[in-house]
Order: sequence, then structure tokens, then C-alpha cells
Amino acid sequence: MAIPEASTIWWNGALVPWQEARVHVLAHGLHYGTGVLEGTRVFATADGPAVFRLPEHLRRLHRSARMIRMDLPYGVADLTRATVELVRANGHQDCYLRHFAFLGYGTMGIDMRHSPVDVSIASWEWRGQLPQGEGGITLKTSSWRRNDPNAVPPAAKATGPYLNSVLARREANDAGYDEALLLGPDGAVSECTGENVFAVRDGVLRTPPSSAGALEGITQDTLLTLARDLGVEVRVEGLLRSDLYAADELFVCGTAAGVIPVRALDDRALPESPGPVTGRLREAYRAAVSGADPRYRHWLTPVG
Ligand code: PMP
Repeated sequence: MAIPEASTIWWNGALVPWQEARVHVLAHGLHYGTGVLEGTRVFATADGPAVFRLPEHLRRLHRSARMIRMDLPYGVADLTRATVELVRANGHQDCYLRHFAFLGYGTMGIDMRHSPVDVSIASWEWRGQLPQGEGGITLKTSSWRRNDPNAVPPAAKATGPYLNSVLARREANDAGYDEALLLGPDGAVSECTGENVFAVRDGVLRTPPSSAGALEGITQDTLLTLARDLGVEVRVEGLLRSDLYAADELFVCGTAAGVIPVRALDDRALPESPGPVTGRLREAYRAAVSGADPRYRHWLTPVG
């Protein structure tokens, strides 16, 4: 998908024209994957555009940076102001935001200590990422395992480790599936390439914990809260591949994806897709992000 250009990008403290936010070919982060990122959504609400769970995304960016030993020159409050300024300047009602900090141009080599940190925020008009065809997507269990936490920590949303997701996604797409399901090094279910996974059986909602190598997803957390508020029993616990094969409903979720039902995993069709619990959660999620449900307005940072 070509990125639809907006007018400006926030780049190390100032708004610059979209085409001027460029990096040098010898930037450290390009060579060694030394970067951290966040994908966040702005949704149109009755009171104007609002960023969904911005503090949580910015805190995760800071946690990711800490895990990979990168010192961010901007705090959460600075980045909050910058985000609002950018979305206003670009005039977006509904967009995707990419916060990105990486080691820039200066020194070359594995020693990261002397490279400068560059920080950018970009916003662009939102278009869905995964296909949302009839009844949901198809998943294939990947031959690639999720990154071992003692090799590169999957809990850090860092650029280098995404090669793992890219390989898994390519393999699944080449085989005719929409998305890959990754197992952790121990063989338990971890997550998809850019989404957390949920299974429903006998009305109970289950999702793997971060110790399974899954990112601590903000949408995952949102859905756990919404489910509890709907009176659905939730369990964050280890899941086997066979737990997913035996599920009544499966869905994946993430900021970019939203809530997407799975209609088949490894060619095993789910009995119902989208299933009733998935449907209720999808509705509750829409109501939360759009500000329609007043119980979750504290999750919205207004831009207007
Ligand atoms: N897992 C991975 C690997 C991801 O890249 C993402 C997207 N950030 C998610 C899960 C979902 O996280 P979130 O709901 O915070 O977008």
C-alpha cells in the first residue's frame, strides 16, 4: 500500500514538509535495526478527532527504548504535545500515527553508544491493513518461531526484531493465507505478525500472556477490559496450537487491524466467523474508539 502523503512530519522537534523528513544512508538504525516505534490511531469522534490511548502508546515507546538501551530525548509530555500539534497541522480526522526513534547518522559499527537518536512522528490518512473479506481472515502457523526473549526481547517494539514478522508474513502470504500465527520458542502460541490473538471456547475468552513472546498489545488490553465490562470471562494464559484448533471463535487484534475475525487456521474452518463474542467485542471496540460509549472517554486525547 502506497503511503498517502500528508503535508508535514514532526522531526526532532519541528514540523518539516513531508518530503524533507529524510535520513542518511549510513544511519545506524538502517543497518542494525536500532529503532523503536509505535503505531497509534486517531479516530473521528462527535467532538472532533481524538488519539486513542496515546499515553499508553508513548509509555510503551519509552519502555521499548529502555529495553534496547536507547535514550529518548523527548519525554511522554513532549511527545504528547508534538502528536497533537502534528495531527492538527495535517488536518486529519481519522489517521494512523507512527512514532519512531532510531539511531541516526554519526558513527558506524555495533557499538551503539555514540550514535545520535533521531525522533519522528508521521501521520497519514488511514486505510485498513489486513484484508477483511467474507467472514474474516485465514491464518497459517508459521515455520518461523517468535523471537526468543533471550535473543531479542519481543516485549520491545523495536525495528530489528520485525524481520521475524516480515519473514512469517511473507511465508503465509506466499502460501495463500492472509496472516501468520507464530509460536514461541517453546512451541506455545505467541501472536501474529502485527496482532495479538484471542480464542473463545464455551464463552470464555483466552489470549496468551507476554511471557509467550507476545507484545503487550494495547488493543489486547482494551479488549480484555471491554470483555470484562460485558461480563465475559477472560483468561490471560498459555495456549497450545490445539487450543486454537478446538476454539469456537478466533480473532486477532491490533491498532492497525482493529478486531478481525479468523475464519480458518491451518485449513481448519472455525465453526462460526465472526462468532457472537467477536461480534460483541467488535461493536464495543467501535463504540470506545469513536467516543460513543462515555465509559471509555478517558482513553481519548482530543486533538481539536
Ligand atoms: N503484536 C505485534 C507483533 C505488533 O506489531 C502489534 C502492533 N503494534 C500488536 C501485537 C498489537 O499491538 P497494539 O494493539 O498495541 O497495536
